[in-house]
Parts: sequence; C-alpha cells; structure tokens
Amino acid sequence: MTWVNWARDQRCAPAAHAAPASEQEVADEVRRAARAGRPVKAVGSGHSFSDIACTDGHLLSLARLDRVLDADPATGLVRVQAGITLRALGERLAEHGLALENQGDIDAQSLAGALAIGTHGTGARFGNLSSRVAALRLVTAAGEAIDVTGGDELRAARVGLGALGVVTEVTLRCVPAFTLERVDEPRSLHATLDELDSLVDGLDHFELWAFPYADRVMARLGTRSTRPPEPRPAAAGWIKERLENEGLALAGRLTRRVPRAVPRLNRLLTRLIARDVLVDRSHRVYANRRDLRFTEQEHAVPREHARAAVEGVLATVARLRLPIALPIEVRFVAADDALLSPSAGRDTCYVAIHQHAGHDPAPYFRAVEELMDRFDGRPHWGKRHGQTAATLASRYPDWGAFAAVRDRMDPDRRFTNAYLRRVLGP
Ligand SMILES: Cc1cc2nc3c(=O)[nH]c(=O)nc-3n(C[C@H](O)[C@H](O)[C@H](O)COP(=O)(O)OP(=O)(O)OC[C@H]3O[C@@H](n4cnc5c(N)ncnc54)[C@H](O)[C@@H]3O)c2cc1C
Repeated sequence: MTWVNWARDQRCAPAAHAAPASEQEVADEVRRAARAGRPVKAVGSGHSFSDIACTDGHLLSLARLDRVLDADPATGLVRVQAGITLRALGERLAEHGLALENQGDIDAQSLAGALAIGTHGTGARFGNLSSRVAALRLVTAAGEAIDVTGGDELRAARVGLGALGVVTEVTLRCVPAFTLERVDEPRSLHATLDELDSLVDGLDHFELWAFPYADRVMARLGTRSTRPPEPRPAAAGWIKERLENEGLALAGRLTRRVPRAVPRLNRLLTRLIARDVLVDRSHRVYANRRDLRFTEQEHAVPREHARAAVEGVLATVARLRLPIALPIEVRFVAADDALLSPSAGRDTCYVAIHQHAGHDPAPYFRAVEELMDRFDGRPHWGKRHGQTAATLASRYPDWGAFAAVRDRMDPDRRFTNAYLRRVLGP
C-alpha cells in the first residue's frame, strides 16, 4: 500500500494498515504493532503538506470513529469521536444549536488531525481549534485508553503532533450556533497595511490575501451575528468557487510557460477581485472548496511583526524575481497555552505562502523561512518547513515540558516517524 497526502507531494509505504471501528480495536492494533516491533501512526484526512503523517510502520485511520457521543447545549460541551471530519462535525453541532468557536478555511480535516498540529482560522479574539479542547481520550503505547483532563498532559496533548498516542475521543467547548457575514473586497495594499491593527481588532475575523507584484489585495471581513442565515443557491456558490480555482490553476500553467509575465498576470488577477457577500451558518461560511493542488508553508510570528513580515515576503519575491502567482495569506490568532502550539504565549499573525503543484517551491520557501526566522517565526506543524529540534527548542518556552510528557507517555517512541525525529529529536 502506498499512502499519499492531499497535495500528492508526500508519500510513504506503511508495512501494515488498519481502520479500527472502536477504541478497543485501536488498542488491539497498537498492541499488534508493538509485538511486530513497528511504529504506529494515526492519520486523519492526509491534509498536511509536511511529512508529519507518513510512516513505514503501522498506519491507523480513525475515519470510522466519527460519531458525536454527547452534546450539551447548556454548557456547550460536546464529546465526539476523534475521526469525524470538521465538515460532518459542523452539521452535527448545528443540529444541537451549537458551533465551533472558529474554524480554518477548509473542513475536510479529521478532528484529531486538525487538533494535532494546532489548526487555526483567523480572528484576534479567538484561539486555535485546540484551545477549545476541554479533555481528550487516547490510547497509549501500552495499548491502554486513558482520559487526559488537565495539567501538562492536556497542554501537551492539545497540540500533540501525533507523538503521544492515538486520540480516540475529544471533549470540545462549543458555542451557540451563529450566523457569519463574510465580505470579500478588493483594497489597496498600503492602505490596508496602514489600517491593519484597527481592522484586526475591529472585526471578528480579518484576513488578507496579497499577491506579489500587485498593489491591490483581497480582504476578507467577518462579522458574527444572530440574524437569520441567507444561504446562497448551491449552484451559485459552486460556480464562484470553481471560477476561483480554475483561474488560479490557469495562472499556474501560464507561470510555468512564461515566468516573466507573472507581475502583469498578478496585477490582472487582483483587478478581477469583486466584492462578494455571504451570510450563512458559520460552518458553511468558514469552509472553502479547494480543487487547485498546491503546496504551502506557514509561519506564526508575534502579531507586532505582522506588517514587517508581509512586506518582507513581498520584497523577497521581488528581489529574487520569483514567478509566484499565488497569494500570501495573512491571518490572526489569539495566544493560547498548549505547550507546542505555534501561538503559545503570544498573540500571533500567521503568514502563509503557496506554490502551485509541479513547481519547485524550494527557492521561495527557503528564502521566506530565513526571513521568518528573523521574526522568531514558528512553523505550522502541518505545512512544509525546514526546522529541526535544534532550531525549534528555543522558540517554545515549554519545549522541555512537552519532552517530559512525551518521555512519560511514549518512552519507547512507539508513535514516532521521520518527521518527529527531525522536529522533536530522538
Ligand atoms: C487545502 C488545505 C487548507 C488548509 N487550511 C488550513 C487552515 O485554514 N488552517 C490551518 O491551521 N491549517 C490548514 N491546513 C492544514 C491542515 O489543517 C492540517 O495539516 C491538519 O493536520 C490536517 O488534518 P488531517 O485530518 O488531514 O491530518 P493528517 O494530515 O492526516 O495528520 C496530521 C497529524 O495528525 C495526527 N493525527 C491524526 N489523527 C490522529 C489521532 N486520532 N490521534 C493522534 N494523532 C492523530 C497525525 O499522526 C499527524 O501527526 C490546510 C490544509 C490543506 C490541504
């Protein structure tokens, strides 16, 4: 069996694979792998761009563990099996009058996979998805299911990188269902950067898409409300997203043939940005359709460096004359206290860069990573980066505490893989 991620740029050949349908079966698989002397890797939907989900050992998919077990609208506490996708979770929560507090820009991920790396959306008042975890249950290296309800264990397991065990259940703090009004609009790059703090603080959700070589950006402004949803006809939404995906795919093909046309192409693309308003249930607004294949790198920098980081990326692309026809995505996340969360202990600006599939991302990604190092950037664990334990340890105040939890929970490194050896050390 060959396992391939969504972006089709990470692949591996696990020695065995299984899709357990219960926690007991998960525990049986972990013990079976131990007897065979193999490492274990739980995978979600394969939506990481890094090799974090790859293994040559025992691959476990939890896709069959996909039920909501308990939902209490009074407290907002929801106990759910770890393999459910965010899409299915959003629909189930709505049936109980509940919603996730905030979400990223797709909903194809499994819940456990999204939590393992600290998946985030945008909104300066809101933490990442993992900041809403009240408790979780996982199968340890000994093949025993334990509840993780507090202390360093929970702070480690909330963004556990898959290094501590196989998560089978999660208790989430949800919020009453709400309507989200999303406005996409073209804006001037410089005026938007001048107003950045007031936009980020004045709106529930603010996000910026900046194209290299262009002086116009797409801004995405989100406001939460209790007004009734106004769902767009499915066909209209489909056509809009299809056009966006096709337009960017075409740009990728042009870029490969005529790289020097990219600056003009990007200026044209930004002139095509039209104002668009969507008012619907939050989970339907956050999630976008992504047909275009690309790869991605993303860094979490202290929020005060947001403007310098964005301008630095644009200047780097221009200085190296890189043919980049995909935008830089800029988002904001509140500080949290998970030990290895990229936003641990600091309000954060996330800067993401993208490259079309089939194009060599290395020159772009290397140059931007060097730049983000200067801003004390922490890499998104699920996206491409070149950091190692040696470069990462000093960027996380609680690095040692995570290592101690890992030593207690997985002393023999049953849940390791090449990625974890690189980023966490042996
Ligand atoms: C098109 C696209 C858009 C994206 N948008 C965003 C975004 O808006 N914000 C953001 O932050 N990220 C985003 N991502 C990244 C994505 O959220 C993460 O990479 C996430 O980890 C993917 O979830 P998954 O279920 O596919 O996990 P996988 O990639 O399959 O696995 C990721 C990690 O989770 C671990 N894991 C999975 N299941 C379990 C389990 N049951 N127990 C223990 N560990 C487990 C794996 O071992 C691995 O370490 C995007 C990715 C893509 C491809």
